[in-house]
This record gives sequence, C-alpha cells and structure tokens, in this order.
Amino acid sequence: MGDLARHRGKRNKLVKLLIEKGIRDREVLKAIGKVPRHLFIDSSFEEFAYQDQAFPIAAGQTISQPYTVAFQSEKLALSPGQKVLEVGTGSGYQAAVLCEMGMKVYSIERQKELFDATRPLLQKLGYTLYTKYGDGYAGLPNHAPFDGIIVTAGAPEIPKALLQQLKVGGRLVIPVGTNVQKMKVLIRKTEKDFELQDHGDFRFVPMLHDKNH
Ligand code: SAH
Repeated sequence: MGDLARHRGKRNKLVKLLIEKGIRDREVLKAIGKVPRHLFIDSSFEEFAYQDQAFPIAAGQTISQPYTVAFQSEKLALSPGQKVLEVGTGSGYQAAVLCEMGMKVYSIERQKELFDATRPLLQKLGYTLYTKYGDGYAGLPNHAPFDGIIVTAGAPEIPKALLQQLKVGGRLVIPVGTNVQKMKVLIRKTEKDFELQDHGDFRFVPMLHDKNH
C-alpha cells in the first residue's frame, strides 16, 4: 500500500487538530503532515491511522498517539542536524517524525520482534537512522553525548545513564510513573545541574529492564 491523496487529506486534518490541541512548532507539524502513519500500523487499523489515538502494534506494544509524538518532539526543542536518542523504537513512527525534522536519530528497542520489523520498514520509507536492539536504560554510551533524548515508554524512575549522555544545554523528555506518567523535561544547565519541568499526565506502556535481568 502506498501513500495516496486520501491519506494526505487525513494527515492535513490531523495537523489541524494538533494545532487546536496546542502544538505550535512548525517543524513538528510539517513532519506529522508528511510521515505516512498508516504504514506504521497493522493494515486492519488503516482507517483509524490519522485519528489522534494510540494503537496496538506487535509484541503487546503501542504506537504512540500523534498528540503525544508531537508534544514530546516539540519539548525536545532541537534544530536540524542535532543528535537525538530515542528509547523505544516500537513502530518507528516517532523516529520517522524526528528524521523528517532533520535530526540525526539513534533509537533503541528491547523487543527483538519489533526491532527486526521496524528497521527494514524505516529503510524502505527512506529514513536513515541508527537503530539498536538493546536496553534503553543503558542509553548509547558509544554515541553520546546527545543534544536530546526522548523516552517513549513509561519509566519508573529517571535513568542516570541517560542524564549522563546529555550535552550541556540538551533536554531529556521522559514520561515518569507506573500507571499514569508525568511528562518531565530535564534540561542540563551545567555538568552537574538540571532544570526540571513538569508537563502533565500521559499514558505509556512500561519501560522494562533488560529481559535477562
Ligand atoms: N516510539 C514508539 C512507541 C512504542 S511504545 C512509536 O512511535 O511507535 C514503547 C516502546 O518502548 C515499546 O516498543 C517497548 O518495547 C519499548 N521499550 C520498553 N522498555 C524498553 C527498554 N528498556 N529499552 C528499549 N526499549 C524499550
């Protein structure tokens, strides 16, 4: 299945809805207007692909709601060419939005089934990024530091390794909590100091520890 005029029409409506819901960043809105979300979910959900909803994907996981993707992307406050680490590749949709915005994207996924399916899909759609099968709690020390880090699973606490892999001036955008998560933004002010912002309630699948631990 390709990307047809009817899909583009639905995407434009979704972008309008996101503007109504308070998303302001033009680059984020432009990217949401371009990424074919219907190709990131099971074809049986195709007709719902441009509704502002999360959906089940393989391995009991979910593709994030477009509003959540837009909100987190906006909070990263990055410019094209900057390096961003995503924890929880999942369907690859959030990663594609960041690629579309011109970021250098690194993404980690701990479910082999998703990692194996998403990598070729992103390639096929023309998105170039670095993907890794592994545990996001450890981040990617070999590729650090990052201008931004985005966690797309609910973290029980803020992983120390991720804070350490942030550049001074960089931001970690992370939903923290068990049943319901508070969206937190941590801005690294100096080597030692972080400013903490709170941005309300969201719901994510849990960020789990390495399967072997
Ligand atoms: N960004 C994704 C959202 C997927 S849901 C999208 O746009 O579709 C969150 C994902 O985080 C799931 O795929 C889950 O397997 C993954 N995840 C959970 N704990 C993780 C961990 N410790 N390291 C890496 N990925 C993890």
